Amino acid sequence: METPRSNNIKGRLFVISGPSGVGKGTLVRELCHCFPDIRVSISVTTRLPREGEREGSAYFFRTEEQFRGMIQRSELLEYAQFVNGCFYGTPRAFVEEMLAEGHDVILEIDVKGAMQIKEHWPQGVFVFILPPSLEELENRLRHRKTESEEAIQQRVSIADQEMAYIPQFDYLVTNDDLKTAVDKLAAILVAERCRVKGKKEKTDGSQLITR
Ligand code: ADP
Ligand code: 5GP
Repeated sequence: METPRSNNIKGRLFVISGPSGVGKGTLVRELCHCFPDIRVSISVTTRLPREGEREGSAYFFRTEEQFRGMIQRSELLEYAQFVNGCFYGTPRAFVEEMLAEGHDVILEIDVKGAMQIKEHWPQGVFVFILPPSLEELENRLRHRKTESEEAIQQRVSIADQEMAYIPQFDYLVTNDDLKTAVDKLAAILVAERCRVKGKKEKTDGSQLITR
């Protein structure tokens, strides 16, 4: 993991994380309807496509060899191996370009990836999405019908470990009622856009005045 290289960062980086099945993808889709200027990073994965998942839309699907090549060429901002054994990572170029153009960028990634980003990019905004209960998390994964029973159990079994990282995050949003959770995310986004001073960023205020 390396820090984004551009010195010309104008946008904000929002990292949305939490257990698999909690509703991260659903929430981010809804949020983008309200804020069409936001850009969502599309991850690279070594996992096989699910039915209906298109290359370059859900993910960029790559072999493990191709993924390792991307790591070696420093093309990923962060990457992690998930409980299913597959690798997932965030392509660097898109994020850097969008931030430099002044877009706010959302990463929807697992907790291990979020912690890597935080280490090197602490001025990001880190949001943990919490399920109303572990039982409901399991129900959601089951109703999504994308995972085998074994994979569902695997994913639920690491939720406790993932939740142990909550203190490292800036915001905690429970995804109980979908609309309420989207409203909370929208409130976070608007609040961050209204910040006078970027998090951990020094300013004397002079650049805020139009002369
Ligand atoms: P993630 O991206 O975190 O793995 P998804 O967005 O795929 O999770 O959501 C998992 C399942 O839960 C999907 O079937 C989705 O429709 C459903 N879901 C998401 N949010 C809610 C909610 N607030 N209430 C009930 N079901 C939800
Ligand atoms: P899924 O197989 O359900 O699409 O994703 C499994 C997990 O990988 C989810 O928790 C998802 O948020 C996470 N994930 C998706 N993309 C990335 C990424 O680029 N980096 C990391 N670290 N995790 C990711």
